[in-house]
Amino acid sequence: MANLKDEYDVVVVGAGIGGLTCGALLAKEGLDVLVAEQGSRPGGYCASSQRDGFAFDTAVDAVMGCEKGGSVYDTLEELALTDDIEFIKLAAGARIIGSGYDVPVTSIGAFADELKGLFPAESASIDAFLGDCKALADEMERLMTPAPDLLGLAGKFGLVAKFLFGSPKMRKYGGKSAGEVLNAFFKEPRLRAIFGTIVPFGPSAMAPLIMNILGGDATSYYPRGGSQAFVDVFTKGLAKHGGYLALETKVTKILIEDGKASGVELADGSQIKSRYVVSNADGRQTFLDLVGEQHLPSKFVRELRETSLSSSSFLVSLGVDLDLKAMGFDGTSIVYNRSDDLDEIFGTDLEKCYMNIRMHSLRDPSQAPEGMATVQLHTMLPYDYMGNWGRKKDGTLGREYTELEKAVAGKLIASAEKIIPGLSEHIVVEDIISPLTLERRTLNSEGATMGWFPAPGGKMRSQKTPIKRLYQAGAWTFPGPSIYMVVPSGRNAARLVLKEARG
Ligand SMILES: Cc1cc2nc3c(=O)[nH]c(=O)nc-3n(C[C@H](O)[C@H](O)[C@H](O)COP(=O)(O)OP(=O)(O)OC[C@H]3O[C@@H](n4cnc5c(N)ncnc54)[C@H](O)[C@@H]3O)c2cc1C
Repeated sequence: MANLKDEYDVVVVGAGIGGLTCGALLAKEGLDVLVAEQGSRPGGYCASSQRDGFAFDTAVDAVMGCEKGGSVYDTLEELALTDDIEFIKLAAGARIIGSGYDVPVTSIGAFADELKGLFPAESASIDAFLGDCKALADEMERLMTPAPDLLGLAGKFGLVAKFLFGSPKMRKYGGKSAGEVLNAFFKEPRLRAIFGTIVPFGPSAMAPLIMNILGGDATSYYPRGGSQAFVDVFTKGLAKHGGYLALETKVTKILIEDGKASGVELADGSQIKSRYVVSNADGRQTFLDLVGEQHLPSKFVRELRETSLSSSSFLVSLGVDLDLKAMGFDGTSIVYNRSDDLDEIFGTDLEKCYMNIRMHSLRDPSQAPEGMATVQLHTMLPYDYMGNWGRKKDGTLGREYTELEKAVAGKLIASAEKIIPGLSEHIVVEDIISPLTLERRTLNSEGATMGWFPAPGGKMRSQKTPIKRLYQAGAWTFPGPSIYMVVPSGRNAARLVLKEARG
């Protein structure tokens, strides 16, 4: 464990992108910041790993908000870091392939035209649905900027008025599930499958999630150097402005004195005092394990226990000796729908479940040795799949786990051969990430991919907490998961700390 001071202005728990963003912004404003990270590397889900010359992203495929005016770009600009990262603009957010269709997801207009060409009988419904998506995305933009927590009393009244009188689509769809809305708009199951796999939350997630992405008409980017480039740039920003990152430094307790956060206790039992604590760690653990129920309102604790987690993921990363470009691929990620039924796509049958095929080395050739390529297969599988992945009764992992992982990977690879013929014969390196790996690397409960499950009408946790001087940043809080959201969550947390610190 690093040689740390006894006291800082702010301790940030966790060096995910939300934590690093918050730490770097506070350090830039002259606060003495410690970011304590339990792992041996920063970045959480955004980190990449290297194997035999191949670079594999842990999770991230494409990122929004990287153009001027976007949440990521503007934050990097604030930290004077825009020259330290290069973004590759992607031609399409994804390419969705299923029975009888192969559609690129580009601008909302072009996407609509493609779909109307494929499903002419549903043309009016496609226009009506995408029209509502656009209107809803505009409303969300107006509702969420600036962050509600940063508004004064008059601003908060204004926000309520905006919601009540200027957000008809949010009020109409906020309490509905994606499945409900897609069923109401479309008779053709393949259209429901296409729209329902734009974001892999499944049909029971709140409809506005999918609708906002579709209506926002957002361009996606990939950083040169893979998702690790985000980690590197924000880590650099923290150091550049005088903040300190301590690796292998697990926080086991958030100290509370007189109802206020007053520092942290580390795994070795040492304590560090601070005026503020920002938690970038798992939303449930932050309160139930690090703070402790005795310091929290019982209603808040009950809600934490009752709120579901998002599903976990399973990823197979492959280094292959294939010329993917010559095979006609351009680096656009493929969502391969092997069923027309959203319940099956978000189920656990390996022949039918969600599959996202990524080929990141086509975007950035430095991700693979010359003449080679990376292929990554991503699916959503739960933490408790097949009896917790064959975990033994005493909680340890043995041969059953390794064999199950291999079997699942093998089935996914076999299925992906319909898109990339001969894939299994060209594998040079194989790396598997299960829900248990995701949990171990980030301590996110059950390897939850996207924090809390976004249930219809569900509550979004704010950066503020019931404990004074304790804030949250990251995917478990407003505005939600993904890089273009956790960056503003870190920024909001930093602004709240500064507002309080400066009176
Ligand atoms: C499979 C998958 C695919 C995804 N695809 C995309 C995508 O294409 N585009 C996109 O934008 N987003 C994507 N996401 C989401 C995105 O990766 C996350 O929302 C984002 O990286 C979360 O950042 P975070 O700041 O919340 O922290 P996390 O990444 O969750 O990191 C939290 C950090 O805190 C540390 N920590 C936890 N507890 C403690 C403790 N007690 N003490 C010290 N340190 C602690 C952890 O080790 C970790 O480093 C994907 C996620 C997954 C899993």
